[in-house]
Amino acid sequence: MTLTDIRDQFPILQQEVNGHPLVYLDSAATSQKPRVVIEAIKRYYELDNANVHRGVHTLGTRATDAYEGARDKVQKFIGAAHREEIVFTRGTTTGINLVATSYARSVLKEGDEIVITPMEHHSNLIPWQQAALATGAVLKYIPLQEDGSILLADVEKTITERTRMVAVTYVSNVLGVVNPVKEIAEIAHRNGAKILIDGAQSTPHMKVNVQEIDCDFYAFSGHKMCAPTGSGALYGKRELLNKMEPIEFGGEMIDFVELQSSSWKEAPYRFEGGTPNIAGAVGLGAAIDFLSEIGMDAIDKHDRRLAAYAMEQMSAVEGITIYGPSRNRTGLVTFNLDEVHAHDVATVIDNEGIAIRAGHHCCQPLMRWLKASATARASFYLYNTEADIDRFVQSLRNTVRFFQSIE
Ligand SMILES: *Cc1c(COP(=O)(O)O)cnc(C)c1O
Repeated sequence: MTLTDIRDQFPILQQEVNGHPLVYLDSAATSQKPRVVIEAIKRYYELDNANVHRGVHTLGTRATDAYEGARDKVQKFIGAAHREEIVFTRGTTTGINLVATSYARSVLKEGDEIVITPMEHHSNLIPWQQAALATGAVLKYIPLQEDGSILLADVEKTITERTRMVAVTYVSNVLGVVNPVKEIAEIAHRNGAKILIDGAQSTPHMKVNVQEIDCDFYAFSGHKMCAPTGSGALYGKRELLNKMEPIEFGGEMIDFVELQSSSWKEAPYRFEGGTPNIAGAVGLGAAIDFLSEIGMDAIDKHDRRLAAYAMEQMSAVEGITIYGPSRNRTGLVTFNLDEVHAHDVATVIDNEGIAIRAGHHCCQPLMRWLKASATARASFYLYNTEADIDRFVQSLRNTVRFFQSIE
């Protein structure tokens, strides 16, 4: 499959919205789903549906094989050493909460430090705030450069021997910047801290290898990488996962149950209490096959090229501010127009069938840092083309002209 006929694989993109062919530029919020993923979920429900890990019957075995097969695919996709290091979750938020609640609260003491950055999504900020409040630990921030990037010298200064936990995003969902997570992991480990990487925006767009980064935890969502909502995974180093207490209790996660006490299965099963999202895992596995067949390096190149093209075209729009560094970024561009509120931009161009995001992007502290109450964001994925960007930029120009004419 080449990148040019990929668009045809996405049924949703074949429609008109408000009388115009749809241009979907909001993949950083959620991606669209290719036919192979939709079909895999349909096929699972039509042929194999049963509960996992219990059935002695044939469908039970098929469902279990499909679910556990998806775990193998995730392991390979992110380069984990062992399949037991992959915990299925509802997405990035659930994965981070598991680490911040189970792992972090068991190791943090008063005065210990948790280090994050001001560019974190609320999902990689509030769980740490809560962990700090519960344990008396201190939440510290690595400062940002003026363009929103991180300097390793600042990382060296912020992470100290009192730091127990570091949590950073690989790619910012607002600034588009790719953070030097491997180097940050090395600094964290040198100081005796563990590190979690928020992989929500990196996993869909680039080749990821958790062993190469040497992170302790890595969380991502399926829905931003062509898989269904409610799917995702948390990677954790095996020895850490097996030391962690579950935070959800019930069926499937137990080893022995007695009247007054119980014991847990090994990881990852101790964290997968109750009937899991089997169809979600099947869909995630199909999405991984789809992305892998195209090749993550090709997708990465495509998305970066589109973002660079968009930045170039957008810079010529009157009164535009583009946020984030000009280098080392992936497929999204966040911006504001002088004359028009971000929400109005998104609403006006929606009339021309173009979908972008406007708001605080679940990053209120970062919005304050940018001195913007809201921003607009166009984000790109493998099914977008230069023609999409041309229509989007033309529409931005029309918007500016329209607002100038009514002043
Ligand atoms: C989307 C996103 C999240 C949250 O993902 P959910 O799928 O909503 O759990 C976390 N971090 C970043 C950087 C994101 O873009």
